[in-house]
Amino acid sequence: QTVRVDLGSRSYDIVIGRGLLQEAGVRIAAVKPGARLAVITDETVAKLHLDAFSKSLSEAGLDHVVLKVPAGEASKRFELFERLCDDVLAARLERGDAIVALGGGVVGDLAGFVAASVRRGMSFIQVPTTLLAQVDSSVGGKTGINSRHGKNLIGAFHQPDLVLADTAILDTLPLRDFRAGYAEVAKYGLLGDEPFFTWLEDNWKAVFAGGPERDEAVARSCQAKADVVAEDEHEAGRRALLNLGHTFGHSLESAVSYETERLVHGEGVSIGMMLAHEFSQRLDLIGQDTIDRVEAHLSAVGLPIRISDIPGQMPPADTLMDIIAQDKKVSRGSLTFILTRGIGRSFVEKGLDPATVRDFLTEKLTR
Ligand code: NAD
Ligand code: ZN
Repeated sequence: QTVRVDLGSRSYDIVIGRGLLQEAGVRIAAVKPGARLAVITDETVAKLHLDAFSKSLSEAGLDHVVLKVPAGEASKRFELFERLCDDVLAARLERGDAIVALGGGVVGDLAGFVAASVRRGMSFIQVPTTLLAQVDSSVGGKTGINSRHGKNLIGAFHQPDLVLADTAILDTLPLRDFRAGYAEVAKYGLLGDEPFFTWLEDNWKAVFAGGPERDEAVARSCQAKADVVAEDEHEAGRRALLNLGHTFGHSLESAVSYETERLVHGEGVSIGMMLAHEFSQRLDLIGQDTIDRVEAHLSAVGLPIRISDIPGQMPPADTLMDIIAQDKKVSRGSLTFILTRGIGRSFVEKGLDPATVRDFLTEKLTR
């Protein structure tokens, strides 16, 4: 299946299917004929999938170098960014050559930022290998690294030329990471597509098992993201809807030190989506029945749903509020927040009083 991301002259295809890795060379050569490639990947993905990928590139006559980084969130940092930029230049890649990200969201964000920066912008191809990367981070052009001040605070918008999502590659993904990516899949239903959420309630087991339903879930998620991105590439308005669950989620993720992976991104999003629903209930926008339905689904798939599901101590509400304030979602003292009027009915609320949010968080942290 193919989903088109419509961005005028920078439009591109997301190709989705089982076994695409073996066709990657031919498909990349069709988009970037004669290009030389720098393949950026992590050690874990390299062990599992690099040989097959590299073989497919060579068979298509694509000359490439491979650059590896350690697996994990800690690789999204300046030192590795710098090293990769130098390595790409040392390999004498030119502007029309391409950077290829073979990995999860960490590799995609890091490699994308390298592609955005070296020679002021090189071609970029995403071969996402986690569910999260396939349905979310590889689509839409956000790239970047973390700073000691918080996650994703340094980066650039840089759209890929092609995304190849091989859904069979997810068979080797640990269950914890599959679940974390699934939180983003559920998010698309919750934010704007109630029939999709209902479909997920009925079909999630097959999505996890790797049947054709998995391709369907990835394609519908990519389509949802592509639609929003085509309308609002730089997050002036509607794109903010994709942040459902992310204001709370990011603050929890940062607070427990994302480098320790006590809480991975999708887990933070799952708890964050529950909190966004509970907060919407507090504002009388939805009833308990909606909360129950969201909670039932997220916990059925094995995702954490409460702050108390996070192992270890949590910091006080004020620390979380400081992190939320650093996040890009605050301007001039009022908070932009994604609230909901029901499943599939999220909306952007711009003028929220931070004190209301702090009180809500204080209460949630004490139980
Ligand atoms: P990740 O890239 O760290 O991958 C998770 C783990 O799975 C890693 O250990 C990795 O080595 C391993 N792995 C990857 N593919 C595998 C496979 N096929 N089989 C076995 N193991 C595999 O994490 P992630 O969850 O993919 O991405 C999280 C990152 O994405 C965060 O940094 C987050 O900020 C970012 N993100 C970016 C965007 C965006 O729009 N750019 C959106 C959402 C999230
Ligand atoms: Zn996310």
